[in-house]
Amino acid sequence: MSEIAHYYAGSRQAGTSGRSQPVFNPATGSSEKTVALASTQEVDTVVAAALEAWPAWSKTPALRRARVLDRFKTILWERADQLAEAISAEHGKTHDDALGEVTRGLEVVEYATSAPSFMKGEFSENVGTGVDSHMIRQSLGVVAGITPFNFPAMVPMWMFPVALACGNCFILKPSERDPSASLLMAEWLTEAGLPEGVFSVVQGDKEAVDALLHHPDIKAISFVGSTPIAQYIHQTGTANGKRVQALGGAKNHMVIMPDADLDMAAGALMGAAFGSAGERCMAISVAVPVTDAVADALIEKLVPQIEALKIGPASDRASDMGPLVTEQHMNKVRGYIDAGEAEGAKIVVDGRTFKQDMQGYENGYFVGGTLIDDVTPDMSIWKEEIFGPVLSVVRRNNYKEAVDLIHSHEYANGVAVFTRDGDVARNFSNEIEVGMVGVNVPIPVPMAFHSFGGWKASIFGDHHMHGMEGVRFYTRIKTTTTRWPSGMRTQSEFVMPTLG
Ligand code: NAD
Repeated sequence: MSEIAHYYAGSRQAGTSGRSQPVFNPATGSSEKTVALASTQEVDTVVAAALEAWPAWSKTPALRRARVLDRFKTILWERADQLAEAISAEHGKTHDDALGEVTRGLEVVEYATSAPSFMKGEFSENVGTGVDSHMIRQSLGVVAGITPFNFPAMVPMWMFPVALACGNCFILKPSERDPSASLLMAEWLTEAGLPEGVFSVVQGDKEAVDALLHHPDIKAISFVGSTPIAQYIHQTGTANGKRVQALGGAKNHMVIMPDADLDMAAGALMGAAFGSAGERCMAISVAVPVTDAVADALIEKLVPQIEALKIGPASDRASDMGPLVTEQHMNKVRGYIDAGEAEGAKIVVDGRTFKQDMQGYENGYFVGGTLIDDVTPDMSIWKEEIFGPVLSVVRRNNYKEAVDLIHSHEYANGVAVFTRDGDVARNFSNEIEVGMVGVNVPIPVPMAFHSFGGWKASIFGDHHMHGMEGVRFYTRIKTTTTRWPSGMRTQSEFVMPTLG
């Protein structure tokens, strides 16, 4: 069994803690690799090396930092297939889906290459007689990112390209379920010319996370994962004086108005609910058709498409959807379908009956596409994030009931409305209390030059990720007020100084 290592001092480094855990191929259910789990001492070593690298990196002109990222971007384009294969082998998502993830991450790298522009300061001449004032952005120091299993390349790339471009050193603690993508990215950053110590990877579990959260030299923590852990990271990190952005779980609704193009809505729902086997924080997991007539017509269109889903491993490039990430997660998703049935919902298409009979994949963690009708807000399948290929239908009688339903949920990551009515669309995007809104767009993930983040229990902290919000998170501003001898006043001033 080979062990997936850490990355620091410019190369892969074997773990020394004596602790490791298996990494599975979800399509086969077998494990041929383990991942090292860092101890607090190993985290200390990595942080010390990053701290040593920071002064030179922070003083490197933003233009040169951007050029390193530009070379990294070229490598990513050229080796996107290799990264996608590494992702699929441990996550299970299809090859094209993994390539899409790499592209969305790469777009943040592209954005980060504009560092000289977004690091520009502000200057005001003559804020007082003979006095000038300027504001600059400076890096924070050593910062860390803790990331979830569902996007092992894209979510780290929401963070590190902007952090590095701003002059910080970055330590990534990837998900222990699919850790290999992190090492490829680390090696390619080194190949692109990133100095030793500026980007490191510590593999690990709670011990490594806690070591980062308590380390006095870590200035900021970016986290993406489930809500209870996001809340813990935010509380612990801020209690230790760190800047923290922690993105949590989701339950995303799609409202289908009576005037919507139903073919378009059904097609959009298929991709948004079942793409990546529903393991996306922006997946649509609840369809909210307005009126029973819309619900009935929508379900009629969805059923044959769900039954026709091609469920298989990434090695079969024709697969629409792969397995779930672990056996435990597969059982959890199946448990939610059981709970929905027990609570009185109607299982229209039952993914529990799916059997993978492709040779070699019989033990993979597959669940078929599932459609559940007559779901009501008191059911656990509506209240909780399932994170699997399960689409619930909650019927509502009018627009207001649909909005009230969405507002009553604790999560507020993404939402969509399908309609042809401009007034409805405008009112919806204006009044809905959710961080990312789609109008006839099912997965409204903002582009890299905008910022990504939800509201309510889908985020803890004030900053969204990437775009200018990312720049604000990874920099602090300094304002210098300057007066030269010709602008000097002669006498000492003992009152609160005013400049005008
Ligand atoms: P998770 O919360 O289990 O793990 C996320 C990270 O936290 C991992 O690196 C893990 O090692 C670490 N971690 C887990 N338990 C910990 C503990 N007790 N103490 C300290 N660290 C701990 O999440 P996951 O299952 O990997 O990812 C799925 C979740 O992520 C879903 O809830 C999904 O909605 C969410 N997610 C949210 C977004 C978003 O943008 N809001 C994006 C992607 C995923």
